[in-house]
Amino acid sequence: EALGPTVTVGEILVEIMATTVGRGFLSPQPLVGPFPSGAPAIFIDQVARFGGAAGIVAAVGEDDFGVLNVERLRTDGVDVSAIATVPGKPTGSAFVRYRPDGARDFVFNIAHSAAGETRMTDAARALIGRAGHVHVMGSAFAIPGIAAILLEAVATVKARGGSVSFDPNIRKELVQGGEGRRLVDDVLAVTDLLLPSGDELLVAAGAATEAAAVERLLGLGIGEIVLKRGRDGSSHFSRAFGRVDCPAFAVEEIDPTGAGDCFGAVYLTCRRAGLPPARALLYANAAGARTVTKQGPMEGVSSLAELDDFIAAAGRGVPA
Ligand code: ATP
Ligand code: MG
Repeated sequence: EALGPTVTVGEILVEIMATTVGRGFLSPQPLVGPFPSGAPAIFIDQVARFGGAAGIVAAVGEDDFGVLNVERLRTDGVDVSAIATVPGKPTGSAFVRYRPDGARDFVFNIAHSAAGETRMTDAARALIGRAGHVHVMGSAFAIPGIAAILLEAVATVKARGGSVSFDPNIRKELVQGGEGRRLVDDVLAVTDLLLPSGDELLVAAGAATEAAAVERLLGLGIGEIVLKRGRDGSSHFSRAFGRVDCPAFAVEEIDPTGAGDCFGAVYLTCRRAGLPPARALLYANAAGARTVTKQGPMEGVSSLAELDDFIAAAGRGVPA
């Protein structure tokens, strides 16, 4: 991490959740929230809570939802100097309700919120100018203009000898279109660590099987691929270490939102600190497992000490 903090760019929002399972929001119902949220925000908060240097380029409104988010990030140790406050626009929000089968219905206000006004400000350039790593969160591409900021950040950090991770947390429709596909390919071409989950691996590679996808992506020059498999754990693939699997921790799933973001944050931060893949996977699986046991997307972020205790309590001593 000597080169500088891990930096990401993207949406900050509050999440307001239905307290009952069902379909959508077509009648009045009990809700709980606001919870701090946004995939890039969850990711960067987890980097900082785990002990990594971290910063985010983002925008919030001049309202309580913005304050709630910025204060959480600041308290957890994130550099918030490049979070702009945009007058006249509300902070982004997402209302979410789970269906009985685990699918989710959303009402989003993101592209037309303050998050949609995210810009490459002087403060953003200053933060990126001292960064050692850029994390590209695919969900941020839903905001027009963010791709250009991310690509500039990637170029700056790569020129300093820094590295890039990519979570292609992205709607399939976006990747299938011409411009979305080009964007994904542009990011893949500069990615050192790829963090897909489920089908995202096949979609990113344009391949039919996991093995073919891994081969194609490593062939592009991606240093390592870490596949998130939900309750089946995770796998690392690289030329240097081959394939390394790590089973998940057995937990009761309360709210899966944020698991992938916390997993990625901890995996990356372990690797930036020089830990081998097997150890990074164990910590990352522990972080993902703890996240799903807590309601609220950012409520399950973990410190290093909490993960050490969790791993020890599960009888899965940290491998040397
Ligand atoms: P997200 O919903 O945040 O996008 P994702 O699809 O990117 O998540 P997942 O594979 O769902 O990522 O979760 C990331 C990691 O968290 C998994 O690899 C696993 O280690 C852990 N995890 C997720 N769900 C569970 C679960 N039900 N039980 C135990 N561990 C889990
Ligand atoms: Mg994901």
